[in-house]
Amino acid sequence: MSKEGWISVARAQAALGQPQPCQICFFSFELSHAHHLMPLAEQYDRGFDKPNHTHAWLCPNHHALIHFLLRNGVRENPGNVHHCMLIRLPHTNAETY
Ligand SMILES: [Zn+2]
Ligand SMILES: [Zn+2]
Repeated sequence: MSKEGWISVARAQAALGQPQPCQICFFSFELSHAHHLMPLAEQYDRGFDKPNHTHAWLCPNHHALIHFLLRNGVRENPGNVHHCMLIRLPHTNAETY
């Protein structure tokens, strides 16, 4: 399966549960983002059979901040911007990247 195919299947099957308040500021926006702790693209590259959807709920502000830090080489895995993906979950206001 292609990388794009694998990621889109993973995206479609993600069961992320009920959106939670931001884990950094605990502020509950109407919109929460699910941030994958291990980027889906990296999981594919590592040959995962099943996607790991371990994620953190973040408010849009802190999600943007985390990705800004990742882009700027903070943490050991820069270049993970490509794991970003947008999911509009049915019946929720959740998005996942
Ligand atoms: Zn926050
Ligand atoms: Zn993210």
